[in-house]
Amino acid sequence: MTAAPAEQLPSPWDLNRDQLAELLDGQPNYRVDQVWKGLNEQGTHPADLTVLPKALREELDTKLARSLELATEQRSNDGATVKQLWNLSGGASVETVLMHYPKRSTVCVSSQAGCAMGCGFCATGQAGYERHLTVGEILEQVVHARAAAAPRRLSNVVFMGMGEPFANYDRVVTAVKRLMTDFEIGARKITVSTVGLVPQMLRFAEEGMQVGLAVSLHAANDELRTELVPINERHPIDDVVAAAQLFRDRTGRRVSYEWAMIDGVNDRPRDAAELADVAYRSFAHVNLIPLNPTPGWPTTGSPRGRIREFASILEDRGVNVTVRANRGTDIDAACGQLRSSHAGSETASGSVPVELGRSS
Ligand code: SF4
Repeated sequence: MTAAPAEQLPSPWDLNRDQLAELLDGQPNYRVDQVWKGLNEQGTHPADLTVLPKALREELDTKLARSLELATEQRSNDGATVKQLWNLSGGASVETVLMHYPKRSTVCVSSQAGCAMGCGFCATGQAGYERHLTVGEILEQVVHARAAAAPRRLSNVVFMGMGEPFANYDRVVTAVKRLMTDFEIGARKITVSTVGLVPQMLRFAEEGMQVGLAVSLHAANDELRTELVPINERHPIDDVVAAAQLFRDRTGRRVSYEWAMIDGVNDRPRDAAELADVAYRSFAHVNLIPLNPTPGWPTTGSPRGRIREFASILEDRGVNVTVRANRGTDIDAACGQLRSSHAGSETASGSVPVELGRSS
């Protein structure tokens, strides 16, 4: 496990406004404004803010970490998907994906380096858990995505990158709140995903936020789901569905169930019928996500025609369903894949397994 070093300096994005003012104690108020604006409007580290006197910049450089360092970046041929791999202090690395759609630009952020949930088919899960990201490390991914999206406006943030967001609950919720206040991204433009950690789902329902909740379901019977998503053994489907219902009751927002379509595994008519039952019970929306093709893993995404048939079965049973487009199939689009292939290119390891839970 990689731990953040005990002496690690805070990222400037770890600090809220009061903490920043404390750090700049003795400076005039307008300096706090300048640094705050530099961080949250321009996305600039205080040590690079030329509006500040050189001595102050140098001082801040010794007090604040430069936490995210770009290791590599990939762009899809159509330019609609940009994937970045970041090195963190302490040796871990995480991925961020920026996706442009006709009417919005969305960033998918990581909340942990690695993941302890152990989904065997998943590049992130197979690499194991390294550490939680700090609030600043989560927000800094958004800062860089916003810069990369320009001149388009970054409108949406989804917590569907590496890691299980609810395993890092307090930091993720703090980051969500800061996105709303400091970055002025509306609650309805933010989605947090979970593989189904029921206690945290219940807690999240009581936070009083209008943030979206996506549950990576992938199977609607306990036997198959436990095979695909081992945490199902601890939090079986009925408990997950009950938590989704409570979330809807408390927030008025329906949950979405994410379903990576895997050829011959969870794309049969009976899988659709089971999912329809579960989704109908919890008034959930279903997102079908064609699994991104990846080398080194035997499972592939379902053929297009089968996905349509699957969607029709759901629609016929009154379930709202969206078939998501494959994103960035010409780059290492599945989450955890860029990190694996980047490490592979350095170690000559050939196997690049696929991330299922966050597959687009
Ligand atoms: S699929 Fe999601 S929850 Fe499962 S190991 Fe991968 S990142 Fe973790």
